[in-house]
Amino acid sequence: MDDCIFCKIAKKIVPVTAIYEDEHFIAFHDLTPQAPVHALVIPKAHFATLMELQETEIMAGALRAVQKTATALDLVEEGFRTVINCRENGGQTVYHLHFHLLGGRFMQWPPG
Ligand code: 5GP
Ligand code: ZN
Repeated sequence: MDDCIFCKIAKKIVPVTAIYEDEHFIAFHDLTPQAPVHALVIPKAHFATLMELQETEIMAGALRAVQKTATALDLVEEGFRTVINCRENGGQTVYHLHFHLLGGRFMQWPPG
């Protein structure tokens, strides 16, 4: 996946400040934040969308990585929102699976 920006981040070709990192995941701040705190948690392996992800170990690890990232960002007490945009109607723009983690203000529901 030579032209995938999140693969480049996962491989450290494009440097980011890691909020959280383990063997399978890395979390970093979104380039265009939609909230006072807006992080992305990505698997280091390339899955284009949520629907390409089949490995249950990575599925479980993703939620653990979101928990670890929320803790590192001190969002646990106030709360936060986690979003996965999937394909066109989901508003996905980067086709490497990622979990948005949004916090620092109240999140409206339903989303627009
Ligand atoms: P999507 O719309 O696909 O769910 O979200 C993609 C997100 O990735 C957007 O919030 C966008 O701001 C973020 N993004 C795109 N390119 C980069 C980048 O090169 N670095 C970082 N940190 N975030 C990016
Ligand atoms: Zn990728």
